[in-house]
Amino acid sequence: MSRIQSVRGMNDVLPPTSERWNFVENTTSELFEQYGYRELRLPLIESTGLFARSIGEVTDIVEKEMYTFDDRNGESLSLRPEGTAGAVRAVIQHNLLSMPGRYYYRGPMFRYERPQKGRQRQFYQIGAEVFGHSTPDADAELIIMLSRLWRRLGVRDHVQLELNSLGSPEARASYRASLVDYLAQYEKRLDTDSQRRLSTNPLRILDSKNPDTQELLEGAPVLEEFLDEDSRDDFAKLQDLLAGVGIPYMVNPRLVRGLDYYNKTVFEWVTDSLGAQGTVCAGGRYDGLVEQMGGRATPGVGFAMGLERLLLLIEACGKYPESRAPDVFVIATVDAAKRSAFAGADTLREQHPELFIVQQLGDGSIKSQLKKANKSGARIALLWGEDEAANGMVTVKPLRGDGDQQTVPMTQLVPLVRDLMASKEELRSMGTADAHR
Ligand code: ATP
Ligand code: MG
Repeated sequence: MSRIQSVRGMNDVLPPTSERWNFVENTTSELFEQYGYRELRLPLIESTGLFARSIGEVTDIVEKEMYTFDDRNGESLSLRPEGTAGAVRAVIQHNLLSMPGRYYYRGPMFRYERPQKGRQRQFYQIGAEVFGHSTPDADAELIIMLSRLWRRLGVRDHVQLELNSLGSPEARASYRASLVDYLAQYEKRLDTDSQRRLSTNPLRILDSKNPDTQELLEGAPVLEEFLDEDSRDDFAKLQDLLAGVGIPYMVNPRLVRGLDYYNKTVFEWVTDSLGAQGTVCAGGRYDGLVEQMGGRATPGVGFAMGLERLLLLIEACGKYPESRAPDVFVIATVDAAKRSAFAGADTLREQHPELFIVQQLGDGSIKSQLKKANKSGARIALLWGEDEAANGMVTVKPLRGDGDQQTVPMTQLVPLVRDLMASKEELRSMGTADAHR
């Protein structure tokens, strides 16, 4: 029989990698909540029209990358390629715009792209959005919160912040016209992608990787000169706020972002530790989007980070906590002792919910079971044989360090395990403080 494989670009996340995902997700959601952000859990599937209207018809995502299908009723649906469209739909639909508008979301996104390192067809994003604030302190808060996150994850020194302002929609439109005028003179020298973009999405030409195009762009008009007064002011205020908390940044006049909905601030956190897929997190302001999606005019700003890239980066910098070994390994050496073993383990779990307790399943000689207990890295083995089970006793065997094995009445199980674990608990909490902060 041929074996069924996972779909190209859609990867399984297996232990111990899944533990690292949990660590990053938990660290992130805990931090965001400490800043007052609350989680939106959104559907993976939305109407195709939602993405076409928000991301833009002529973007790479909508033109080439979406997983779109008709459901059995003939309605066009798409797997979400990003989270902002759904978040905006949800806050409009549920009237959440007037409440303190800080939200975050997480989960898989889907884009039909060429899979490579740091680029999958199913990938995982964590994002945050702030609604209802047009002032640049909202942009600053998001960036400051991210900087704090990079510190908690131990990657702060490996990411750089790039900023730009796209200005008002009018400023962007007149810049766009002037860029098209300039590039049209050299149309033949542009690669086919850029030639196509010249009429559809010319700003995207700015981040072309083609060296010849980059050379042409040296002489192109610069966005900054087209900025309106208000955008200029806000951009200066944002930079001032970031400087105030000591966050280094670089203004990158070529940073435009691929989605239609951005205005004013756009930013990316980039790393040179991951090769071509160097953008770990990207975001910007989208003051017109809520209204464009049918809501009451409400400014917004947000970002999304790619978890796979972030994990690769943490891997490169070596800041994961180690996998946890069990504390206690439970063994019943004969079938008749399994009841006592389950009952003993259950009491221990009730009294000490923090303990990691693994019970050996199946039948095996005491020797082979103890071997498994040792291999697991557990600190203590609890053994129930025929005698222990018959007499309400348990044998407690320290597996690490010294200490003799003792057979004690069941009533002493909890205090004895507590004594044996005490010194280890102290060590563990010290280790956590060091590795994670
Ligand atoms: P790129 O230029 O790398 O394609 P993008 O501009 O399309 O990125 P965004 O839509 O801004 O990406 O998504 C935010 C973040 O999500 C990216 O910075 C990246 O970390 C991550 N991301 C986007 N697409 C993928 C993908 N196909 N696989 C893995 N991560 C991705
Ligand atoms: Mg992309």
